[in-house]
Amino acid sequence: MKKILITRKLIKESEDKASKTFNPIFNTNDELYSQSKVIEMSQGCDGILSSLTDKLDKETIDKLPDTIKIISNFAVGFGNIDLDAAKKRGITVTNTPEVLSDATAEIGVLLILGACRRAAEGIESAREGGWKWSADYLIGKQLTGTRLGILGMGRIGQKIAKIAKSLGMIIHYHNRSKLNEEKADGAVYHESIKSLFSVSDVLSICCPATKETENMINKETVEFFPKGAVITNVARGDIVDDEALIDALNRRKIYAVGLDVYKNEPNLNPGYLKIKSAFILPHLGSATKDTRIAMANLAIDNINEFFDTGKCLNKVN
Ligand code: NAP
Repeated sequence: MKKILITRKLIKESEDKASKTFNPIFNTNDELYSQSKVIEMSQGCDGILSSLTDKLDKETIDKLPDTIKIISNFAVGFGNIDLDAAKKRGITVTNTPEVLSDATAEIGVLLILGACRRAAEGIESAREGGWKWSADYLIGKQLTGTRLGILGMGRIGQKIAKIAKSLGMIIHYHNRSKLNEEKADGAVYHESIKSLFSVSDVLSICCPATKETENMINKETVEFFPKGAVITNVARGDIVDDEALIDALNRRKIYAVGLDVYKNEPNLNPGYLKIKSAFILPHLGSATKDTRIAMANLAIDNINEFFDTGKCLNKVN
């Protein structure tokens, strides 16, 4: 049986499945392993089932033992892994697409609703007490008839678009390539982010974190939005330059934000905490039991498929 280091604790059903198919090394305390600990723990292993909290950069990958043939990431995003460094060492990297799209799209829509309808301020007032209903109390932005820009209209972006459409929003998007008619489902394509942002009353960031998308929301691009736009991010924190966004919020250029992901998680930029309207969640995108089990099962299946066939459908490098 192949020996696999599983860097984070999984839901019991998933750990049971892993035990049936390979010889797993579990992380029973769910301790966050340092890079050197991952290197140490992977000695004698054939593969690693990693999570987005493991920073597998070039330096770490270069020090992994030669026996490691696969890194199966327990996430659809793989910005935490240096794909080129893994490729150079002959290590296959895989991810868990599709199984988490519904759950993540739900959080994507929650961010839009929470930011537009001032849920953060509402929750705080309801808990504190002393509020009173009045005609102009906590007036927010209604979604009906507003334009939703989707940056990264892939699996999750398309699901958010479908739900947003049912709420009466008009969908615009930008990808590097235009979708076919069926996938676009009436959404308007924009060739540039400038063009997309200029029509986005609300933006939903759904693209991966890559060198190209890093800090795509920045001092310059934030000015492309209509005044009073809402920016939400369900993808990755690295896509946003926090200082620029916080400054735009303070200047009221941007009305509100809905964020699930941050640079340097869990240490989000303290500037967000000072903004009462910021609707912020602690990276909950895929956090439902069914989805987490499906993700772990797929990460386990990816390892088995790789060792059985030498290939894997969900290989990303
Ligand atoms: P996907 O199906 O691969 O979709 C990504 C989309 O982004 C594609 O439409 C792609 O289109 C576009 N894109 C890629 N690079 C781009 C660029 N440089 N400029 C503009 N568009 C670009 O991925 P997915 O399954 O929807 O997941 C998207 C991301 O969500 C993941 O990478 C992950 O980081 C994040 N995520 C977060 C959570 C959470 O817990 N909050 C959960 C799951 C996923 P083109 O290739 O045509 O550009």
